[in-house]
Amino acid sequence: MSEPSLDSAPGDLTPAEFSVAGHALIDWVARYLADVEQYPVLSRAAPGDVAAALPAAPPALGEPFAAVMADFERVIIPGVTHWNHPGFFAYFAISGSAPGILAELLTAALNVNGMLWRTSPAATELEQRTLDWLRQLLGLQPGWFGMITDTASISTMLALAAAREARPELAIRSRGLAGRPDLPVLRVYTSLESHSSVDRAAVTLGFGQDNVVHVPVDDEWRMRPDLLGELIVHDRARGYLPVAVVATVGTTGSGSIDPVPAIADVCERENVWLHVDGAYGGTAAVVPELRSVLAGVDRADSFVVNPHKWLFTPIDCSALYTRRPDVLRRAFTLVPEYLVTNAPDEVVNYMDYGVQLGHRFRALKLWAVMRVFGALGLADRIRHHCALAHEFAGWVDADPEWHRVAPVHFSLVCFRSVARHANGDPQHEDAITAAILERVNAGGRVYLSHTKLGGRYTLRLAIGNLRTERRHVEEAWRLLREAAAAITDEA
Ligand SMILES: *Cc1c(COP(=O)(O)O)cnc(C)c1O
Repeated sequence: MSEPSLDSAPGDLTPAEFSVAGHALIDWVARYLADVEQYPVLSRAAPGDVAAALPAAPPALGEPFAAVMADFERVIIPGVTHWNHPGFFAYFAISGSAPGILAELLTAALNVNGMLWRTSPAATELEQRTLDWLRQLLGLQPGWFGMITDTASISTMLALAAAREARPELAIRSRGLAGRPDLPVLRVYTSLESHSSVDRAAVTLGFGQDNVVHVPVDDEWRMRPDLLGELIVHDRARGYLPVAVVATVGTTGSGSIDPVPAIADVCERENVWLHVDGAYGGTAAVVPELRSVLAGVDRADSFVVNPHKWLFTPIDCSALYTRRPDVLRRAFTLVPEYLVTNAPDEVVNYMDYGVQLGHRFRALKLWAVMRVFGALGLADRIRHHCALAHEFAGWVDADPEWHRVAPVHFSLVCFRSVARHANGDPQHEDAITAAILERVNAGGRVYLSHTKLGGRYTLRLAIGNLRTERRHVEEAWRLLREAAAAITDEA
């Protein structure tokens, strides 16, 4: 080891090395996106395979970036489930896009932390502008404050923290919830079909999971607003304090749309914070003829939609909106001396509106996606997905061996097997449906996921990928029917 000289830094790759590695990397990504269909969509790795292929200890001596890329292809790729594969129909597809990928590289290159306006004015101001663009694309009224977070789960948690802070007389921010006989039990209402992130937020914020009231749904899996109103009145009579309702536009299980206008009526009457979870379904409103899915959302106190779910922005990018930023800020602002600035009051310091101090420059990728595709291009892509889903639903409906279990509002189709040899026995039908899913997913050409609706095992085909064409959806349908036939033959 030579004596270190302080005249120069140990440093980074040289600009020339960076350029060579960078061009190779971009070429790799271009090939990957073009050829992603060659991979099995669902990784075939067994538990521990990837870990076993990785050295247990870090290298002592630095290696060239090309060595990292070689192992990326050899070790990492076989352990990857390809969310960018056009046969990825599971969960809600998270489809990256070229503009999103390129902008992520710029975000990493700048590596700014937008915690304060002054720590990168462009990070804050681009975020405000892109979220206002998104608001316009969704057909919402002016007057919403927007912030990008990592996930809808965090967005919903922040919204519920604001709902709690909307009652400053409780002094929960300063005094907490524990050991306080003066406090009523706080209650949150959501439907039986809402996302688990609502319960988790209640756990995190100290409401307690038992104080999340799951309102029953109707036969199309929508929250019953009449029962919501009754449950709130009943809870008040028992001395509970209703603080928030979470309605969903596009539930994760079935894509159902809660009746937000009727729920908003209840919330206004009862003075309860209304948060709307449109993580997936909210995006549909970029299509003008689907804009009605967000009816009533302008009456909510907060709203979340995930551009990383169905708006072609690489994970992570969740847009949290609130009409009451003053309340959200009151819930979280806490400025230690080292972060005090003399910036004018009108600038937004995003660190004041959430738990994290650091704030990633995610607006860059959302901006790039909106500019490269444009409002019309985004609408075309969403419309294409919805049309494919409707076509698939038609095939399911026309086949007596299958049963569709929810209306198709977006690009999600929920269905199950009603194979004749099950003789209408629910348990047998569910077992067959599960076996079909396993067989289809093992094939590596398509990947679907499942849920339970009304206690019944249900398959979900969710279309959200930029590269998904009719032939991929046709292939999924063919593979499903072939698997069903094979299982019937074996029975
Ligand atoms: C996916 C989903 C979420 C959770 O999204 P994350 O960003 O992964 O936290 C919340 N709500 C609904 C309706 C969803 O579909």
